[in-house]
Amino acid sequence: MGKFSIAIHGGAGTLVKGQMTEELETRYKADLSTALKAGYRALEQGKSALDAVEIAVNELEDSPLFNAGKGSVFTAQGTHEMDAAIMDGNNLEAGAVSLITGIKNPVTLARDVMEKSYHVFLAGDGAMRFAKDLGYALENPEYFYDAFRYEQWQEIRDTDDFQLDHSVKKESKFGTVGAVALDVHGNLAAATSTGGMTNKKWGRVGDSPMIGAGNYANNKTCAVSCTGSGEFFIRGVVAYDVSCLMEYKGLSLEQAASEVIQKRILEIGGDGGLIAVDTQGNVAMPFNTEGMYRGSKKSTGEEVIAIYGN
Ligand code: ASP
Repeated sequence: MGKFSIAIHGGAGTLVKGQMTEELETRYKADLSTALKAGYRALEQGKSALDAVEIAVNELEDSPLFNAGKGSVFTAQGTHEMDAAIMDGNNLEAGAVSLITGIKNPVTLARDVMEKSYHVFLAGDGAMRFAKDLGYALENPEYFYDAFRYEQWQEIRDTDDFQLDHSVKKESKFGTVGAVALDVHGNLAAATSTGGMTNKKWGRVGDSPMIGAGNYANNKTCAVSCTGSGEFFIRGVVAYDVSCLMEYKGLSLEQAASEVIQKRILEIGGDGGLIAVDTQGNVAMPFNTEGMYRGSKKSTGEEVIAIYGN
């Protein structure tokens, strides 16, 4: 049996240390652990990396603690607009959705775009019609409601502000989710899902559903899922950049991931982090914020669940 590994994240904008209670920290870690175990179990059973990342992200979408699926942030209109993407490193197939509402597990819809349409990226009403054609049930807005997210929105609603709250100075409960995996067959996959930014408007779309920006997988190099200030991650083409540094410059996963997060994205003013796995099962989880909800587990026995840096 080949080596396998999985890594997950629940967003790079964590609650600042002073605001994190012991009880909350336990809840975050418990939900991270549930998702990590679910994805790992799939890999252990010989399932594909693609299945594993979808399963892990579904768990995180179902947790109200993270800004994806249930618990997504509020838009300026008081709605939830979610984005997600998934990519198979084996054949470079990919699927993505953005500006969708009422869908319990956006990443599963993204996978359906990949597998059941000729397209890669569907947005808004069209994506919703596609979901309807496939028989998706719609959750009502109460399903996605989270009191903390509502409060966050109340603070800035009716202003032109939006909450790009990866800054350590702000209280932030930002939490795009993602997963990357290497399966026993040597295939890589990445998935990312998000509610985006509090008080976003005008159909704002971040990096998460954009192939190459927030999400990328290629069996030649690595699988990457990002979290951070989306506008900068789009401009930095971050996930693809990690892969390029490995492919064209021969950097290791660790070197490539850290070059992008600790240098390149900072140079253009972005903050956040990423998780990545390579064809050998190595995992990198760099971030330049105070923390990043994260976890990883390798078939070689190593397991990590963490929130803050050292
Ligand atoms: N990158 C996401 C976005 O800009 C947010 C996040 O990572 O939490 O939509």
